[in-house]
Amino acid sequence: METKKCKKCQEEINKKAKKCPKCGSKQGMPTWLIVVIVIIVISIIASTGESSSSSPSKKKEGGSAKDTNEKFTLLEHQKSDESNQYFMYIEGKIKNNRDRDMSYVQVTFTTYDAEGNTLGTCLDNNSGLQANGTWKFKAICSEGVDKIDHYELKEITGY
Ligand SMILES: [Zn+2]
Repeated sequence: METKKCKKCQEEINKKAKKCPKCGSKQGMPTWLIVVIVIIVISIIASTGESSSSSPSKKKEGGSAKDTNEKFTLLEHQKSDESNQYFMYIEGKIKNNRDRDMSYVQVTFTTYDAEGNTLGTCLDNNSGLQANGTWKFKAICSEGVDKIDHYELKEITGY
């Protein structure tokens, strides 16, 4: 058995031991593992910094988007199981954040192909949404449905 000395109590222990059997102190990690961990930590810090610096620029984007967020919250959304190569639906829930009934609400998504080109829109509207109520919508997508790769919320409007 190859042995080494415990870093804490200097006891002769198995070279592969992660813990000293005598004093229970953890033995050092291999250098390559430390390097990997440092790289991971640095990349996490870098990505956190990126997202925090990009969020203020998002807030600057047009006042309308900000207003929309205050009025409504998109609680959930997903591509409907009923979608096929001819029809695509996005279903989900939208919450009215205001203390008054809305007489009309509309949600619009923009669809894109795999290259990021805009294909069309998915739209649903409803004649009314009560104060602080939730609307279960089903937005029907038009144009190039067979090419849709991804979609994003365009706007939620209401009055
Ligand atoms: Zn020890």
